[in-house]
Amino acid sequence: MTDYLRYLPILIIPLLIFITCKLIRSSGTCIVCKKLAIGSPYRCSDGVICKDCSQLMPSSTLRSLKMEPASTVKRLIDITRSNIPRYRKIFDETSHFGNIHIDERNGLIALCSNREIKDGKLKSSCKNIFSVLNVQDCNFNIKTESSSENAVKVSIHFILVLAEPNITIKEQIGHATCNAHRVDYEHISYSEPSALTLFRSIFVGMLRQTWEKYDYMQSHNFISPQAVELTLSRALFMVDEQYTLNEIKRQRNRLIKAFHPDSNKDIDATKYTEKINNAYKILKDNLR
Ligand SMILES: [Zn+2]
Repeated sequence: MTDYLRYLPILIIPLLIFITCKLIRSSGTCIVCKKLAIGSPYRCSDGVICKDCSQLMPSSTLRSLKMEPASTVKRLIDITRSNIPRYRKIFDETSHFGNIHIDERNGLIALCSNREIKDGKLKSSCKNIFSVLNVQDCNFNIKTESSSENAVKVSIHFILVLAEPNITIKEQIGHATCNAHRVDYEHISYSEPSALTLFRSIFVGMLRQTWEKYDYMQSHNFISPQAVELTLSRALFMVDEQYTLNEIKRQRNRLIKAFHPDSNKDIDATKYTEKINNAYKILKDNLR
């Protein structure tokens, strides 16, 4: 027994050093409010961010702050304070993919859990709301989770780069199973998940619509709701201003097929079929 006790300090001392280092690293003067912060899990490149200040920022950005300077954090808090309450008030969901909620008409994107939204309206707990006018770049990242003979399971990530302040946010859209075929012993090729196809066309459509609306608002004071619907429909069908009836017919079939409940268990197929048919009608009427 005494033998064991002799080794006890050898075990306890490194543990104490570890805890002290951890505490020192996570403590200090908050870079935003200058108050003393003890044991805060949030840091940027030049210091600690206290708990109170961290709550003034979109939680989706907190994970990516480690490399950012204090000036970025301060700018983010300023922008959040002035924009988020206003965005939350007007937000009206038109689509959602995992935790990504989209308001195509107002050009807003919210990264919130389904608990934070009710009847398309955001609850006050949701603080991750961005205007697509602040989007500098976006990208998608598909990661293979597992693969079998003729199916590949993937997770889809959405990468959003904001312009002001310049910051990158990564969010998972969801999982999908894609049809696969083996190219050779090592390589498997697979189709793009249809959830991604739809997300991409809706998101790009919203970007395009918001920019058009923004340009228009610079010179006029009013844009008709019909013009907005037409831009969104064109974007969903991935056609420009010059399109033919055959083109939109083909595209409608492709989209409807992609959102068939058989290939998409996670997506509300009825809702999207309705969306696709409605856009088709708008585009067809516009041809007359
Ligand atoms: Zn603070």
